[in-house]
Amino acid sequence: VRLQLQQSQKMEAVGQLTGGLAHDFNNLLTVITSSLDMLEQRLAQGRHGDLQRYVGLARNASGRAASLTHRLLAYARRQTLASTVVDPVSLVQDMKELISRTLTPRIELEVLPPEQAVLCFCDAHQLENALLNLCINARDAMPQGGRLKIEVSQLRIEPAQATATLNVGDYVRFRVTDTGVGMPKSVLERAFDPFFTTKPLGSGTGLGLSMVYGFARQSSGDAQIESTVGEGTTVNLFLPLHHGVQTATEVAAPLIAEEAA
Ligand code: ADP
Repeated sequence: VRLQLQQSQKMEAVGQLTGGLAHDFNNLLTVITSSLDMLEQRLAQGRHGDLQRYVGLARNASGRAASLTHRLLAYARRQTLASTVVDPVSLVQDMKELISRTLTPRIELEVLPPEQAVLCFCDAHQLENALLNLCINARDAMPQGGRLKIEVSQLRIEPAQATATLNVGDYVRFRVTDTGVGMPKSVLERAFDPFFTTKPLGSGTGLGLSMVYGFARQSSGDAQIESTVGEGTTVNLFLPLHHGVQTATEVAAPLIAEEAA
């Protein structure tokens, strides 16, 4: 649990770092835009004296923005998946203590396992991070307290339910439900966007849900949100169901990942 707590603190630190980078990036864009405005003005007025100065400002800011992007990409590249066969119920059970610690005392946590044992195929660490992100969001949505429910079930997506991002097939579905403030349409539409946040500067990075979504899609699954203002929010995370017998690739995957690390 201590290791996981450290991991979640690290994730929070990384999140703050990336959030900070986005902020800096935006500042640099402002410098570039205002330099271009000044250039345009001077050109229109036929004042060519200090054009070079504004070109220099814009060039300098572009260079710094490029270096920020490289740092972000270096971070993103570390998110390569090491997928294995995962027992989602024991994973959630093992996380219960960690989750409880991140919640406030007035939030009640309930875990509902599926009727029958299921296995999914995904990166266990990323799944833990995704669930932790969802629980932290749920906590933030319930400042007065409430109920947080994590349901794990097996689900078949039939052609009629398939969407552009969720293919026909068998999935393990994690449903994380809170009785919090809910999301208005304007938030719901942008919730998965990287760096979109409604939280005050310094507390939200806007990366939690985008990371959950990225992880789900990279794992051949999907993430969907249902939310009603004043009632609460449910985030559904779909990961591919694993059908019993492990293939040679799946057995080898953790060993290869370990070797690469
Ligand atoms: P962050 O939590 O850092 O703001 P996220 O990407 O995790 O970033 O969430 C983006 C936004 O979506 C939040 O700022 C919040 O407005 C909204 N949101 C996310 N989860 C919930 C939830 N469970 N209930 C209500 N709003 C939520």
